[in-house]
Amino acid sequence: LLMAYDPARRLARLQVQLERAVVNARMIYELLDLQPQQRERADAKDLVVTDAKIELENVSFRYGNGDEILKGVNLMAEGGKTTALVGPSGAGKSTIISLLPRFYDPAEGRILIDGQDISHVTKASLRHHLAYVSQQPYLFEGSIRDNIRYGRPEATDTEVEEAAKLAYAHDFILAQPQGYDTPVGENGVTLSGGQRQRLSIARALVRNAPILLLDEATSALDNESEAAVQKALETAMRGRTVVVVAHRLSTIVKADKIVVMNEGRVAEEGSHEALAQRPDGLYARLNNLQKPI
Ligand code: ADP
Ligand code: MG
Repeated sequence: LLMAYDPARRLARLQVQLERAVVNARMIYELLDLQPQQRERADAKDLVVTDAKIELENVSFRYGNGDEILKGVNLMAEGGKTTALVGPSGAGKSTIISLLPRFYDPAEGRILIDGQDISHVTKASLRHHLAYVSQQPYLFEGSIRDNIRYGRPEATDTEVEEAAKLAYAHDFILAQPQGYDTPVGENGVTLSGGQRQRLSIARALVRNAPILLLDEATSALDNESEAAVQKALETAMRGRTVVVVAHRLSTIVKADKIVVMNEGRVAEEGSHEALAQRPDGLYARLNNLQKPI
């Protein structure tokens, strides 16, 4: 019996969960301003968002003293449009996403939102305009309501429920033993992968931010959950500037622009139709690999 509680095994399992969760959790915490402010220019002004257009100008980046991960990236995400980042694993797609809330700063180059260098604005105002949905949906200890409200602590119960409805989560939440007050996390009810993802989408939606950063999960859900998550994401993306690290062909095809990353550089960009037709293009090759037949 004691074997089942073997602390070493529990620790090992926790370690794996932590490693997977740590970046996401930090992204979420940072976006919620739960962590103390990092350095910020004394003359920092509040970001003013009009179109929510994002530009990367000649951005280079390395983690610590490691290899150069981004090498002179130029990228434009038009306001209100969806820009999909695709490309091989390790190309630097998630790294680009993590630069936008200034989780890290570029070594060279600039990132602009509506023409304002994000390193010159207050972090609070920058993050106020961003919402993030991670690859691994992260649930905090607490009720379902708490978990959605983490997106915006001052949200009212009505706003929490509105967000849940938009994320196609309201019905399964009501079906839980205590509805919105049902505890989740280690000591709470077990939710399916699709349900957890919809809660994390609701958490992003309650922020009502003009820019949505989305790191799509690589692992597929069952068909029914997949359809529900897809619908929730489509609602979340409507009318926003979306930068999505995309793995699903359906997301990629619907994007207004596809940016193909390879080894820290933009290899190609354009629409699905245009890129798929380039005979020797990286996208055409990746696209062929993804086709079910
Ligand atoms: P992608 O999302 O395209 O798969 P990433 O942006 O996650 O690529 O990673 C790009 C490169 O940066 C990879 O070589 C990866 O190992 C490295 N990398 C990612 N995160 C970190 C980190 N926190 N510290 C050091 N290296 C990292
Ligand atoms: Mg990634």
